[in-house]
Amino acid sequence: MKQNKLFLLLISVCYIFILVAQDAEAKTIIENEVRASTEITISGENNIQLSIVSSSQSSTEKIFQLTVENISQMDSFLGEKNLSQARCKNINLVVYHIPYDILNNRRIMSFLDWSAWNNLNVTGIYVFDSVRSPTGTGTIYISNDLRGEILNKTIKHELIHFWQDLTCNTAGNMELLSVEFEKTVYD
Ligand SMILES: [Zn+2]
Repeated sequence: MKQNKLFLLLISVCYIFILVAQDAEAKTIIENEVRASTEITISGENNIQLSIVSSSQSSTEKIFQLTVENISQMDSFLGEKNLSQARCKNINLVVYHIPYDILNNRRIMSFLDWSAWNNLNVTGIYVFDSVRSPTGTGTIYISNDLRGEILNKTIKHELIHFWQDLTCNTAGNMELLSVEFEKTVYD
Protein backbone atom coordinates (compact mmCIF):
# COMPACT_ATOMS: atom_id res chain seq x y z
CA MET A 1 0.00 0.00 0.00
CA LYS A 2 2.77 2.40 0.96
CA GLN A 3 4.62 1.53 -2.23
CA ASN A 4 1.51 2.28 -4.30
CA LYS A 5 1.17 5.68 -2.64
CA LEU A 6 4.83 6.43 -3.26
CA PHE A 7 4.41 5.43 -6.91
CA LEU A 8 1.36 7.71 -7.28
CA LEU A 9 3.28 10.56 -5.65
CA LEU A 10 6.17 10.03 -8.07
CA ILE A 11 3.78 10.08 -11.02
CA SER A 12 2.23 13.35 -9.73
CA VAL A 13 5.63 14.94 -9.26
CA CYS A 14 6.66 13.93 -12.79
CA TYR A 15 3.40 15.26 -14.20
CA ILE A 16 3.84 18.65 -12.52
CA PHE A 17 7.45 18.75 -13.69
CA ILE A 18 6.38 18.00 -17.28
CA LEU A 19 3.77 20.80 -17.12
CA VAL A 20 6.38 23.25 -15.80
CA ALA A 21 8.85 22.14 -18.48
CA GLN A 22 6.22 22.59 -21.21
CA ASP A 23 5.39 26.04 -19.89
CA ALA A 24 9.07 27.01 -19.78
CA GLU A 25 9.37 25.86 -23.41
CA ALA A 26 6.25 27.84 -24.35
CA LYS A 27 7.56 30.97 -22.65
CA THR A 28 10.92 30.64 -24.43
CA ILE A 29 9.23 30.19 -27.81
CA ILE A 30 6.87 33.10 -27.17
CA GLU A 31 9.66 35.38 -25.97
CA ASN A 32 11.87 34.45 -28.94
CA GLU A 33 8.95 35.06 -31.23
CA VAL A 34 8.19 38.53 -29.93
CA ARG A 35 11.92 39.36 -29.59
CA ALA A 36 11.47 42.70 -27.81
CA SER A 37 9.86 43.37 -24.50
CA THR A 38 9.14 46.39 -22.40
CA GLU A 39 8.12 46.37 -18.80
CA ILE A 40 6.21 49.29 -17.39
CA THR A 41 4.88 49.57 -13.86
CA ILE A 42 1.68 51.41 -13.09
CA SER A 43 1.50 52.71 -9.57
CA GLY A 44 -1.25 54.77 -8.02
CA GLU A 45 -4.64 53.83 -6.75
CA ASN A 46 -4.70 50.49 -8.52
CA ASN A 47 -1.08 49.64 -7.85
CA ILE A 48 -1.07 46.90 -10.47
CA GLN A 49 2.29 46.05 -11.99
CA LEU A 50 1.60 45.76 -15.68
CA SER A 51 4.10 44.30 -18.15
CA ILE A 52 3.61 44.26 -21.89
CA VAL A 53 5.60 41.93 -24.15
CA SER A 54 5.38 42.64 -27.86
CA SER A 55 7.55 42.60 -30.98
CA SER A 56 8.27 46.31 -31.26
CA GLN A 57 8.51 49.39 -29.11
CA SER A 58 5.56 51.00 -30.91
CA SER A 59 3.25 48.01 -30.47
CA THR A 60 4.33 47.65 -26.83
CA GLU A 61 3.45 51.30 -26.23
CA LYS A 62 0.14 50.95 -28.05
CA ILE A 63 -0.93 47.87 -26.06
CA PHE A 64 0.26 49.53 -22.85
CA GLN A 65 -1.80 52.64 -23.56
CA LEU A 66 -4.94 50.64 -24.45
CA THR A 67 -4.58 48.43 -21.37
CA VAL A 68 -4.10 51.40 -19.01
CA GLU A 69 -7.10 53.22 -20.55
CA ASN A 70 -9.26 50.14 -20.25
CA ILE A 71 -8.21 49.42 -16.64
CA SER A 72 -9.39 52.94 -15.83
CA GLN A 73 -12.64 52.41 -17.79
CA MET A 74 -13.14 49.11 -15.98
CA ASP A 75 -12.99 51.01 -12.65
CA SER A 76 -15.89 53.21 -13.84
CA PHE A 77 -17.79 50.23 -15.24
CA LEU A 78 -17.45 48.17 -12.03
CA GLY A 79 -18.33 51.22 -9.92
CA GLU A 80 -21.52 51.86 -11.91
CA LYS A 81 -22.51 48.23 -11.44
CA ASN A 82 -21.66 48.30 -7.72
CA LEU A 83 -19.22 45.46 -8.20
CA SER A 84 -16.54 45.17 -5.56
CA GLN A 85 -12.90 45.80 -6.32
CA ALA A 86 -11.77 44.39 -2.97
CA ARG A 87 -8.86 42.09 -3.72
CA CYS A 88 -8.47 38.60 -2.38
CA LYS A 89 -4.84 38.47 -3.51
CA ASN A 90 -2.23 40.62 -5.19
CA ILE A 91 -1.41 39.65 -8.72
CA ASN A 92 0.52 41.42 -11.44
CA LEU A 93 -0.58 41.44 -15.04
CA VAL A 94 1.49 40.48 -18.07
CA VAL A 95 0.15 40.96 -21.58
CA TYR A 96 1.79 38.90 -24.33
CA HIS A 97 1.03 40.37 -27.76
CA ILE A 98 1.84 37.43 -30.01
CA PRO A 99 1.13 36.10 -33.54
CA TYR A 100 -2.24 34.38 -34.04
CA ASP A 101 -0.47 31.20 -35.23
CA ILE A 102 1.53 30.97 -32.02
CA LEU A 103 -1.48 31.75 -29.84
CA ASN A 104 -3.44 28.97 -31.53
CA ASN A 105 -0.62 26.44 -31.73
CA ARG A 106 -1.92 23.63 -29.48
CA ARG A 107 1.60 22.24 -28.97
CA ILE A 108 3.16 25.53 -27.87
CA MET A 109 0.12 26.59 -25.85
CA SER A 110 -0.44 23.10 -24.45
CA PHE A 111 -0.79 24.51 -20.91
CA LEU A 112 -4.18 26.01 -21.85
CA ASP A 113 -7.33 23.97 -21.26
CA TRP A 114 -8.48 24.01 -24.89
CA SER A 115 -11.41 21.69 -24.14
CA ALA A 116 -12.93 24.43 -21.93
CA TRP A 117 -13.94 26.34 -25.10
CA ASN A 118 -14.49 23.37 -27.42
CA ASN A 119 -10.98 23.60 -28.87
CA LEU A 120 -11.90 26.69 -30.90
CA ASN A 121 -9.24 29.16 -32.03
CA VAL A 122 -8.94 32.28 -29.86
CA THR A 123 -7.86 35.90 -30.35
CA GLY A 124 -7.31 36.53 -26.63
CA ILE A 125 -7.18 34.54 -23.43
CA TYR A 126 -6.61 35.25 -19.73
CA VAL A 127 -4.73 32.67 -17.67
CA PHE A 128 -3.97 32.44 -13.99
CA ASP A 129 -2.39 29.29 -12.69
CA SER A 130 -0.07 29.18 -9.71
CA VAL A 131 1.64 26.05 -11.07
CA ARG A 132 2.35 27.36 -14.53
CA SER A 133 2.57 31.12 -14.00
CA PRO A 134 5.14 32.87 -11.84
CA THR A 135 3.59 33.34 -8.39
CA GLY A 136 1.13 36.19 -8.38
CA THR A 137 0.96 36.77 -12.11
CA GLY A 138 -2.07 36.79 -14.34
CA THR A 139 -1.40 36.62 -18.07
CA ILE A 140 -3.33 37.88 -21.06
CA TYR A 141 -2.30 36.44 -24.43
CA ILE A 142 -3.56 38.55 -27.29
CA SER A 143 -3.27 38.06 -31.03
CA ASN A 144 -1.12 40.72 -32.73
CA ASP A 145 -3.23 40.76 -35.91
CA LEU A 146 -6.10 42.55 -34.15
CA ARG A 147 -6.72 46.19 -34.98
CA GLY A 148 -9.05 49.02 -33.93
CA GLU A 149 -12.28 48.19 -32.19
CA ILE A 150 -11.71 44.41 -32.13
CA LEU A 151 -8.36 44.90 -30.39
CA ASN A 152 -9.93 47.26 -27.86
CA LYS A 153 -12.85 44.88 -27.19
CA THR A 154 -10.54 41.90 -26.75
CA ILE A 155 -8.44 43.76 -24.16
CA LYS A 156 -11.63 44.84 -22.34
CA HIS A 157 -12.97 41.29 -22.34
CA GLU A 158 -9.82 39.75 -20.88
CA LEU A 159 -9.46 42.53 -18.26
CA ILE A 160 -12.80 41.48 -16.75
CA HIS A 161 -11.35 37.99 -16.31
CA PHE A 162 -8.30 39.57 -14.65
CA TRP A 163 -10.59 41.50 -12.25
CA GLN A 164 -12.50 38.27 -11.58
CA ASP A 165 -9.21 36.62 -10.60
CA LEU A 166 -8.02 39.60 -8.56
CA THR A 167 -11.23 39.63 -6.50
CA CYS A 168 -11.83 35.84 -6.46
CA ASN A 169 -15.25 36.63 -7.90
CA THR A 170 -16.94 33.51 -9.16
CA ALA A 171 -20.51 34.82 -8.89
CA GLY A 172 -22.66 35.53 -11.93
CA ASN A 173 -21.92 34.95 -15.58
CA MET A 174 -18.47 36.37 -16.25
CA GLU A 175 -18.72 35.87 -20.00
CA LEU A 176 -21.85 38.07 -20.06
CA LEU A 177 -20.12 40.71 -17.94
CA SER A 178 -17.05 40.63 -20.20
CA VAL A 179 -19.22 41.08 -23.28
CA GLU A 180 -21.13 43.94 -21.61
CA PHE A 181 -17.88 45.74 -20.80
CA GLU A 182 -16.67 45.17 -24.40
CA LYS A 183 -19.69 47.15 -25.61
CA THR A 184 -19.27 49.99 -23.11
CA VAL A 185 -17.86 53.18 -24.53
CA TYR A 186 -16.53 55.98 -22.31
CA ASP A 187 -15.31 59.38 -23.48
ZN1 LIG B 1 -14.21 35.35 -21.68
